[in-house]
Formats: sequence, C-alpha cells, structure tokens
Amino acid sequence: MKNQHANPGVRQVRPRNESGRELTLTFHEKRRGKPPRHLADLDRGERRELLEQMGHPGFRADQISAHYFTHRTIDPDRMTDLPENGREELVAAVLPPLMERVSSQVADGGKTLKVLWKLHDGVVVESVLMAYPDRATLCLSSQAGCGMACPFCATGQAGLSRNLSAAEIVEQLRRNMEIAESGELGAPRRVTNVVFMGMGEPMANYPAVREALRRMIEPAPEGFGMSARNVTVSTVGLVPAIKKLALEGMPVTLAVSLHAPDDGLRDDLIPINSRYKVGELLDAARLYFVKTGRRVSIEYALIKDMNDHQWRAQLLAAELNRRGRGWAHVNPIPLNPTPGSIWTASTAAATRTFVDTLRAEGISTTVRDTRGSDIDGACGQLAAEVVDRDNVARRAKKAQEAVEVRIMEHRAEPKDLAQQLAAGRRGTDG
Ligand code: SF4
Repeated sequence: MKNQHANPGVRQVRPRNESGRELTLTFHEKRRGKPPRHLADLDRGERRELLEQMGHPGFRADQISAHYFTHRTIDPDRMTDLPENGREELVAAVLPPLMERVSSQVADGGKTLKVLWKLHDGVVVESVLMAYPDRATLCLSSQAGCGMACPFCATGQAGLSRNLSAAEIVEQLRRNMEIAESGELGAPRRVTNVVFMGMGEPMANYPAVREALRRMIEPAPEGFGMSARNVTVSTVGLVPAIKKLALEGMPVTLAVSLHAPDDGLRDDLIPINSRYKVGELLDAARLYFVKTGRRVSIEYALIKDMNDHQWRAQLLAAELNRRGRGWAHVNPIPLNPTPGSIWTASTAAATRTFVDTLRAEGISTTVRDTRGSDIDGACGQLAAEVVDRDNVARRAKKAQEAVEVRIMEHRAEPKDLAQQLAAGRRGTDG
C-alpha cells in the first residue's frame, strides 16, 4: 500500500484502492514528544505511590489533588497546607506546566472564546469556550491534528501530529475553568459541560481519553466531579472503541458524527466508513445506549445538495427506528465551510424539510447551535489558523474535488429505498 510505513511509527491506510483518491487514514502519530509526567495522568493510588517514591507522605497527593481539581490552582503560594520547605520543588515535579496560552479570539459578542495553546514540544491545539447565561461549555481537543481525513474538515487536512496525554486534555479543562471563573466572558461562570469536538478523533486516542474522562467525572480529590451526562465524546465511528467505552461504567454522552445514512455517500465523506459501515456503527451506538442508558446523539452536518435530500432523512429515520425507539437524538448542523471548501451549508428550506421528515418518523431532532462559527469554532474545524491557512485551503479543495464526482453519483435514491424504509417501520412496530 502506498504511503504505508513511509515514516516509522506512522501507520496509514488507504480506505479504498481507487486511483486519484487523496484521502489517507492515519492511526499513529508522527511526533512522539512525550509530555512531562503530571498528576492528572494518574489515579489516586498512583499519585500516592508517586509521592511516597519521592519521599513524601502519601496523603500529600490528596492535598495537591484538591488544589488542582477543587481550587483549579497550580500556584504553590496558595498551597499553604504543604510544608513551606521544598513546596515549590514538589509542586513543580507533580504539576509541571503543560501548555502556554498563545492567542485568543472572541466571537458572538464576547460569549465565545477560542484559545490557541502551545504544548511542551511546540505542538498547538485549540479549545473553544462558550458562555451561556448560567454556565459555560468547553469544546476541547484530544489530538494535535487528526488522522481521519474527512474532506469537509480543516483539521483533517492538516493530518495527525500526535495524541494528547490525559493530563494535556484535563489541563485544557482546568485552564478554561480558570478563564470562565475569572469573568473573562463577561461574568464569572462555571464550566458545567465538556464536548470532545475540537481537534482530533477521541476514540483514536482511547487510553488517554478514558483517563481524562475519569478525571473529569470522579469526585474530588480524584477529579473535578462533573456530571457524566454533561460530558460528550464525539466520534466518526471507531466501532471497537465505542463498544469498549460502553463497558467502562462511565455514562458519558456519546455523539456519533454520521453525516450520511448510506454507505455509498459515507464512504466518501467519512473515510473511516470504509472500515466500519453505517450498520455496524449504528449497532455499536445502540449497544452504547443499552449498556449506559444514555441516549446517543447523531450529528449530521447538512451540506447543500450532498446529504440533505429528503430521502436521506427518511432513510436515516428508518435506520434508527429499525433498532428501536427513543435511543437516539438527531442534531442536524448547517455545515461551517472551512477555508477552500467547495461545499456549503444547506438552505434553510432544505434544513426545514430534513428536520420535519425526521420528526414525522418519530425521531427527536434539534438543529444544533452553531456558536463560534465565525471563528471556525465548530466541530473538527479548528485548525485552519494553527497551520498554514492557504495550505489547508488548497488541501481541502483537492480532497473535496477528489470525491466530488463519486458523491454526485450518490444523489439519486437507491433502488431498494422502499424496502429499506419498510424495514425501518417494521422495526418501529416491533
Ligand atoms: S471531522 Fe473530526 S474525525 Fe474527521 S478529520 Fe475532522 S477532526 Fe478528524
């Protein structure tokens, strides 16, 4: 396979063997800059062990954890319950700085803040903080870049640099909690919700994401004690990881970025679909609902004349209904075109028809808030300013043109649509 093992440590897979195809999935990181060891990488037992190895009593781990997770501070001067002698050295050893705030961009009248963070090895990631009247939601990154190569997404065009460590993910949250609580977005607010919809495919960095989730939902001093239902992990469909997460005993919300209910179109729109098909993905999503009791969100970026046909809304409803009622909620999102995109958002009329069709079939549906769209703040579309914007634009255009012809072929209704819709209705009746 061309490109495979071109760089040791990089494993790439061409989703289809068609000439002219430019999309390549990457599962392994180009850079392996190991971030410094940090308390947030460890569970409570490991933290105690570490402190004891360093010659301190184990209970100091809980004291430092309380400062980090409850008071959101890494400032040794505020940790007055630690002995003054050697305090700074101890804190520097277990809470090393992981990221530096490089720049910020404000949108939505000061209610949305995108921050660019530089990590220890110079790699950059972004987070978006969105303020609501009584709370704030954070959209964070799980990888620097992304290897999933979705042609509509700027991050996908830049490729995967490296996975983030659990602590680098957690630290994005702590730093944004500080920002929200400081009143930088108008008034002090608590970050109550987290969505993994920034740079990267969280399921492709499963071990670190699992640990970060634990730190988010476990009560202090173990973690921040957030409500699991307020933490959303978004995936384009790494089926084995979805099944694993279903069994972790952490009922976080799962969001599946589906964007097409048929394999014909989805193979081109989401390259990982060449490995895990729509049926398999929805089965895994349904399993997630059964195991956790959490209704699954189905994300659907509406792209003009590409995936917004009424028959696709009917087919999506049928695929969901044949697996049972009430287990999934659909969020259509008007596409936020990335630089260089040849695709654009669906019209208001097409959006309305799509939503009405889903609702008529009994599917609960809400058009999602596109906060921050004026700062490239939507899911997976954060990277355009991090990397060379012109280069990303060129690559996005090329990637889209490479699949455009085949996508055109998928505009017509499939011949067996009536049968597929009937199967959906039988599922509902049963
Ligand atoms: S849409 Fe998500 S999974 Fe696809 S390339 Fe972008 S960040 Fe990666």
